Amino acid sequence: MMTANEIRESFKKFFEQKQHAIVPSAPMVIKDDPTLMFTNAGMNQWKDIILGTRDPEPRRRADTQKCLRVSGKHNDLEEVGHDTYHHTMFEMLGNWSFGDYFKEGAIDMAWEYLVDVLKLNPEDLYVTVFEGSPEENIPRDDEAAQYWAKHVPADHIINGNKHDNFWEMGDTGPCGPCSEIHVDSRTPEQKAASGKTGRELVNQDDPQVIEIWNLVFMQFNRKADGSLEKLSMNVIDTGMGFERLVRMMQGKHSNYDTDVFQPIIKAEEDITGIRYISEDSENSEDSEATNVAMRVCADHLRAVAFSIADGQLPSNAKAGYVIRRILRRAVRYAYTFLGQKDGFLYKLIPTLVHEMGDAFPELKAQQTLITKVIKEEEDSFLRTLDKGIALLDKAMEELKAQGKNQLDGVQAFRLFDTYGFPLDLTELICRENGFTVDEEQFNVEMQKQKERARNAAAVENSDWTELTPGEQQFVGYDYTEYNCHILRYRKVTQKKNEFFELVLDATPFYGEMGGQVGDTGVLVNENETIEIIDTKRENNQSVHIVKQLPKDPTAEFMACVDTDKRNASAANHTATHLLDYALKQVLGDHVEQKGSFVSSDTLRFDFSHFEKVSDEQLREVERMVNDMIRQDIHIDEHRDVPFDEAKKLGAIALFGEKYGDKVRVVRFGPSCEFCGGIHASSTGRIGFFKIISESSVAAGIRRIEATTGKDCEERFYQMEDILKNIKSFFNNAKDLQGVIKKYIEEHDSMKKEIEGFQAQAVERAAQRLVEKARVVNGVKVITTVLPMAPAAAKDLAFKVRANVEGSLLCVIGSHDNNKPQLSIMMSDDMVSDHGLNAGQMVREAAKLIQGGGGGQPHFAQAGGKSVDGLSAAVDKVIELADLS
Ligand code: ATP
Ligand code: MG
Repeated sequence: MMTANEIRESFKKFFEQKQHAIVPSAPMVIKDDPTLMFTNAGMNQWKDIILGTRDPEPRRRADTQKCLRVSGKHNDLEEVGHDTYHHTMFEMLGNWSFGDYFKEGAIDMAWEYLVDVLKLNPEDLYVTVFEGSPEENIPRDDEAAQYWAKHVPADHIINGNKHDNFWEMGDTGPCGPCSEIHVDSRTPEQKAASGKTGRELVNQDDPQVIEIWNLVFMQFNRKADGSLEKLSMNVIDTGMGFERLVRMMQGKHSNYDTDVFQPIIKAEEDITGIRYISEDSENSEDSEATNVAMRVCADHLRAVAFSIADGQLPSNAKAGYVIRRILRRAVRYAYTFLGQKDGFLYKLIPTLVHEMGDAFPELKAQQTLITKVIKEEEDSFLRTLDKGIALLDKAMEELKAQGKNQLDGVQAFRLFDTYGFPLDLTELICRENGFTVDEEQFNVEMQKQKERARNAAAVENSDWTELTPGEQQFVGYDYTEYNCHILRYRKVTQKKNEFFELVLDATPFYGEMGGQVGDTGVLVNENETIEIIDTKRENNQSVHIVKQLPKDPTAEFMACVDTDKRNASAANHTATHLLDYALKQVLGDHVEQKGSFVSSDTLRFDFSHFEKVSDEQLREVERMVNDMIRQDIHIDEHRDVPFDEAKKLGAIALFGEKYGDKVRVVRFGPSCEFCGGIHASSTGRIGFFKIISESSVAAGIRRIEATTGKDCEERFYQMEDILKNIKSFFNNAKDLQGVIKKYIEEHDSMKKEIEGFQAQAVERAAQRLVEKARVVNGVKVITTVLPMAPAAAKDLAFKVRANVEGSLLCVIGSHDNNKPQLSIMMSDDMVSDHGLNAGQMVREAAKLIQGGGGGQPHFAQAGGKSVDGLSAAVDKVIELADLS
């Protein structure tokens, strides 16, 4: 039996022999495409070739691509774990032809690979072809059907509708019919028992008759008005689910029973003590819940670990939030069905790395980071879960008190929204306690939220208006001004704001990428000046954002970059490279860039490191960077270097970054990185480098914020001014630190002295009051009104009590800074035998000072607003005590 690794290799070998260039998987997390957060198909990384903005050579390519289908157009999340053949993260094996072979080649090769090489039984294979769409005037894909007929009998070819058999990149853009290959993997007994042929079960959600390979034939381009035109270059794009193929090859009936997942599931069994029941054993019914949970954990572990390795940490927004939700889904299943009340997933990482670390070295290299991040996420979600459960318990208690047995949907939604409690968990807990949940209302709330999100994100693009065909040439590494024409433009509407995107034939404008902000500037000619407010990078080209179109879009322009801004952000970018280098020197080789932001006035650098960077280390880093600045090292730039050669130059590549076949390498002395950004011509241009803060962004990730050049100079002036002011407070003392220290010591000792005097004063006052006490019916009564701070008054009250034997009622009216205070102190027998309560009396009497308060039965205090009423309030207390 072939192992998963052998099957992966055989695919690559087969297509290599068919003259395909075998290319690496692109990262699963997409950084520079506003329309897509995660790679969800092999073709994503070829989007620019298909759209015609990148050189298609080599025209035949093949790879295995890490995909994630948890958001947007492809979202399988809710299926995962419940069925046995959809994953969040999976590998998609694919082969491409960009204007080379078309339908016949693709069909022949797919068949040859599955049947001749892998020896799958042709009787179990079914293929689909597009049935056509009369309203769109597209005929049935007879061409594909005719090529299939060479390999399979007619009853194995099935017509499919637009939903299954017509592929579109998006609302607009390349599209075309497709042919899927389905496998009937039922056992002979199952076939006999069902009485249905494989043909009848294709695309019917039968877990044993599933699609494994989709061959897409792109031949149209859809325009914004919905009409189709012929694509200038036909494209073959195929995708085969690797885990499904492995299952077929290993004769299993669930992806989870293959060697892709079994080791992880074994590890889950070892930790939980629960047995996983494979699809092929009897009686899997009882264990359905635990089985699902174990599948969910095995699957989600991969998705989360790979995305962290690709640089996407769980967080509160966008892609990070998607990852956080996947992780939380796994934690919830482990918590509810596998009894895991503490972190669990992170314990499975050694197994995952052991199994996949060779094929995906990014996992192995970042094992510590992945473990730390997952553990921390698990711990924090489990705390939230506890809090949510406590809230739910309270809500159910209240419902019970009201004699109700249904939790309303708004509350259920709040639990979902703020505590990550999905409806089914809330329902489960409610059910266990005899409650139901108003599901309909929950769905209404959910719908409302979705609409809010959709309205906020809605972007409308019109078609590109082509003025001249052609590709853009980027000249920004060498020029900041350049003659140009507009190639094409389109209108974009977002949140009711309208702007235009321009593509120029040649541009010095750098589009936002790799953390560096896009350039701003102007397009000018003698007739007009158009402001470029931002530049984005899309499909390998700079897209210029303008508020209005030129009156004559076909005219020649000079594109001029705002050089002050550009020079400042270039210097900051160079500074991040030096910082990266210095951090590795000072902290060690585990330092790995995890994100950066570079603009004209600031720079931010995130990196993996597992503890706080000490002040001494930060200073060492600063000294090292500033030293390199003073050496004024010139940029040593290599463009269009083949990837492998760049590695040989010692350039540092980032995990999760997508690199082409040819790359740019930027070196400043010992610092050498893969980088497409704009840099200073020499390090001296940075001027000076100063770290402003060092903090934690997530488990295992630190962030440094720093400034350079002019900003440092301004900060220095500010500090100097502050220092000068402070000096002048101290008569420009030479030894400022010594003088301030002396002042602090003097201040402390004076404070102590004052406290001593106050205590003595209180002591004396207490004695005087006790001496003056009246006796009413055997009770010593003390009243007084005097100026005194509230704390001292309390002190006084307790001193009086300590100095009086027998029954006591002491009422002190004190005032401080025009604020009155009333304090009542009694001996315990006044409470027990006379039934008095200082708290009640003080509240009543405090009305006379326009205030309120309270306390214990024997001692209470109240503050107020009116000092004038103080004596009356003291008398009121005596009156309330009614001792006569
Ligand atoms: P299905 O109908 O089974 O969801 P699909 O139509 O979404 O499949 P495609 O978008 O055509 O699939 O993707 C190509 C191939 O990738 C499929 O034939 C299948 O083998 C595999 N695949 C798709 N989605 C998943 C998934 N969530 N997990 C594992 N493999 C998948
Ligand atoms: Mg699907």
